[in-house]
Amino acid sequence: METIILEIDPLNIEEEKIKKAAQAIKENKTVVFPTETVYGLGANGFSENAVRKIFEAKGRPFDNPLILHVANIKSFLEFSYISYSLLEKIERLLPGPVTFVLRKKEIIPNIVTAGKNTVAIRMPAHPIALKLIEYAGVPIAAPSANISGKPSSTLSEHVIHDLKGKVDYIIIGGKVEFGVESTVIDLTQGKVPVLLRPGPIPPEKLKEIFGDIEIPKFVYGIVEADYIKAPGMRYKHYSPNTPVILIEHDEKENMVNKVVDEYQKYSNAIVLCLREHSLFYKEKNINYDIIGSEDNYYEFAAKLFEMLRKYDEKVEVMIVEGIEDKGIGIAVMNRLRKASEKTV
Ligand code: AMP
Ligand code: MG
Repeated sequence: METIILEIDPLNIEEEKIKKAAQAIKENKTVVFPTETVYGLGANGFSENAVRKIFEAKGRPFDNPLILHVANIKSFLEFSYISYSLLEKIERLLPGPVTFVLRKKEIIPNIVTAGKNTVAIRMPAHPIALKLIEYAGVPIAAPSANISGKPSSTLSEHVIHDLKGKVDYIIIGGKVEFGVESTVIDLTQGKVPVLLRPGPIPPEKLKEIFGDIEIPKFVYGIVEADYIKAPGMRYKHYSPNTPVILIEHDEKENMVNKVVDEYQKYSNAIVLCLREHSLFYKEKNINYDIIGSEDNYYEFAAKLFEMLRKYDEKVEVMIVEGIEDKGIGIAVMNRLRKASEKTV
């Protein structure tokens, strides 16, 4: 199919272009758009027909539910059963890189929620995303804009690579801010909210607002029966075609030694490392690229999928230095543990 590409500057949005894309959503077509987390592949969240096209374009299993994107706070009341006291709490995080799982209202078709009686809702902060939803006048169901199982798209070229010819419109709107998908928090499991997917909003921030929260072990990559609670977590995820070896965080000396051990097993490997370790690898003539630094995990998150895509099918194996499970580092390590074939 023909894909129409619309280039829009997020800081100087051309109304006609956004309106064109919004019209496409109204006509039950598919539109890729930037958000502050990763690029999303959207369609009219009220239309079963439109939403089916998302699953087909991505090759996504139908039992993996989508996130419903909204442009204002009152949409939470329209599409879910939420108390005013809870709404006041989540308002403090809106708009932003966080998704709330709530009890679903009938108006949302089952295809969006994979037949569940809960719905995941997010109000993104990206100006293009917000305007698109607003002008469309309907909620936009959207997963990440990548082929199912592959790393999410953080640059427009990722979207073009994966989805050109498979969707109706692609809005090119620059680089995303965070580079990992939204935090998902389940507010339907009784008294204590449950973190289903770590993301840019860290647990400490959620605790400030909700008091206690539950963090299941699968968030840290420890797989147990309770992982069934988060539908998308059952699948291999975020994986490039080239195998990834993850070196769990350790102090510098141990870390670089483990990396070198692994590196020597291959004839064409790359090390994706912390800036602080790069000189060591340079001196040893090791093929490396910098993915982030000790003191800026946000940089690591922002470059994570970009790096996994950059070296995909260019090397035999990617060896990635892990970071600590703190702040956005929890989200980074959650994705890396899923993406990797092997952990050291
Ligand atoms: P994606 O947009 O590709 O990052 O995927 C959306 C993710 O949101 C899914 O894989 C689930 O982990 C989560 N999600 C969406 N809807 C629900 C729901 N009703 N209950 C629990 N998790 C959900
Ligand atoms: Mg995804």
